[in-house]
Amino acid sequence: MKRCYKYFAMPASLHDAQLMKTQLKLAGDYRRQLVDIENRSRALQRALWAEPMRHIPIEKRAEWREKEGGNAILKAWTKTDEYKEWRKKITDCGYAMVKVAYATAGDAGLAWGTRLMVADAVEHARRTTAWASDLGNQPCNRMGVQIQQTAALTCIECVGGEDTRIRVGKELYSLGPRVDGYRPRSPERVLNRSGGLGARKLQELKIRVGSEGRQPVWATLHILMHRPLPPTAQIKWAWVQFRRTGTYEKWEVVFSLELADEPGVNHPNPDSAIGIDIGWRRRDNGMRVLYWAGTDGEHGEVVIPEVVERRKKKSADLQSIRDKHRNFMSAELSKLRGDAIVPPWLAEALRYCHQWLKVMHYVRLERQWAENRFEGDAEIYERLVAYLKQDRHLWNWQACNLTKMSRQIRGIFTDFAHMVCRRYQGIAVADIDLTELKEADDEAKIASRSIQRLAPGEAIRALRQAAPRYGATVYAYDPAYITRDCSHCGYRRELEQPHELRQICEKCGHGEDQDLTAAKNLIRMHAEGVDARTAGVRETKKMPTRRTRKKAAAA
Ligand SMILES: [Zn+2]
Repeated sequence: MKRCYKYFAMPASLHDAQLMKTQLKLAGDYRRQLVDIENRSRALQRALWAEPMRHIPIEKRAEWREKEGGNAILKAWTKTDEYKEWRKKITDCGYAMVKVAYATAGDAGLAWGTRLMVADAVEHARRTTAWASDLGNQPCNRMGVQIQQTAALTCIECVGGEDTRIRVGKELYSLGPRVDGYRPRSPERVLNRSGGLGARKLQELKIRVGSEGRQPVWATLHILMHRPLPPTAQIKWAWVQFRRTGTYEKWEVVFSLELADEPGVNHPNPDSAIGIDIGWRRRDNGMRVLYWAGTDGEHGEVVIPEVVERRKKKSADLQSIRDKHRNFMSAELSKLRGDAIVPPWLAEALRYCHQWLKVMHYVRLERQWAENRFEGDAEIYERLVAYLKQDRHLWNWQACNLTKMSRQIRGIFTDFAHMVCRRYQGIAVADIDLTELKEADDEAKIASRSIQRLAPGEAIRALRQAAPRYGATVYAYDPAYITRDCSHCGYRRELEQPHELRQICEKCGHGEDQDLTAAKNLIRMHAEGVDARTAGVRETKKMPTRRTRKKAAAA
């Protein structure tokens, strides 16, 4: 059984933070290179495949392939030895370049474990998902160590141990005065949140970020040990992850562990079941995200209250306020350009200021200006400083607002999941692919945009996570017709007004909330033993090869 243990962390000093940030930057560079190699290799392969139609203009190629037997020519071309030889050359070249990139990243100082993590992630993306060619543009936020099978490490050896990859200080560590005053996020807040016990639970953690000769170079963090590591578990990976929320920096340490399987738990109500229909619907008091009905006759809905939902709107409002302030500042600076008192360096710096959209430009300008103050600049300079201060405040407000919102939503789902798993053994959910739903029609698309942050799929995740603790099992059923089949007589009706919440059966006259009908139908399917899968074990979407695509077309 695999488990991840996550701990709040703070770099022990500015130096440690910089060490790790350098690693993250190098990791990002390395990933960009790998993605670039893959993109090039794919472009070459496409060009190679299209070789026989090179002389045909692009707009006529479809016609050529369909009508002039082009498809057959292409097919014959892919069978030739020449094609195969070139293809092999491209692949080999890609591998060679990957090797070089690996070595260069190592020379640049990227630690071995992080290098493996990045390479693994890119390889995984390459094989199992539709290739995201812009993967390299996203910042890399993880650095870590891998513990191989041959040099296994259990948690008990790691805590207070002498391992050369990762060490957790055994002594409880109290937060001493910080030499350089580096505080990524107010530690007092963390300590208070855990009831003042935090200070006593802080421990020192060292993670390897490189080598000096054969000696490890460490980055040190203070981690909040809110729960102990299971002593006998094997550590597979350990990594540090970094995130910014507004101007705040958040660090976490994650241990990926291999634990012995826990013995199964017997559920107190083994014959009980619950049907959960997931889908969103606007209600008076907020957004309904799911409706449930149990075998004991109880039913109810889960609603994301409007106060939570409003947070998203608030963030959008804050963004527009920030934009307004920025435009104002930009106009002020533009006016300054023609002024006689402006020294040449500032005139040069302000050349494109009417186009500045990112706050970074203003920050940079302020830094430069602070070192080159001149006569008569007080008013405008102070205005710039005030603008930046205000913007930082609004940005943090905006970013934390969204974080809080997703946390509140997750909380609602987690509470619901525990309530459900405690009371019911069989949990039947509709196996909807929300991404498909989003593509379904325009109306759903618009709705999906507004609910995306409400993430109804999170509910299934929460259920799956809570279920083993109570001995419950989550099953997924095909959602076809679940709102259309009458829960009373089983008649499959046409929903003439599907947006109407209450639907009346034209055969037996039974009327009820259509989401309740769906939930009841899920229980029925569960009782009848309809084929189900364990929910959430969706097979990873493999990239369809040409052969499977052809098979699908033939079928
Ligand atoms: Zn009926």
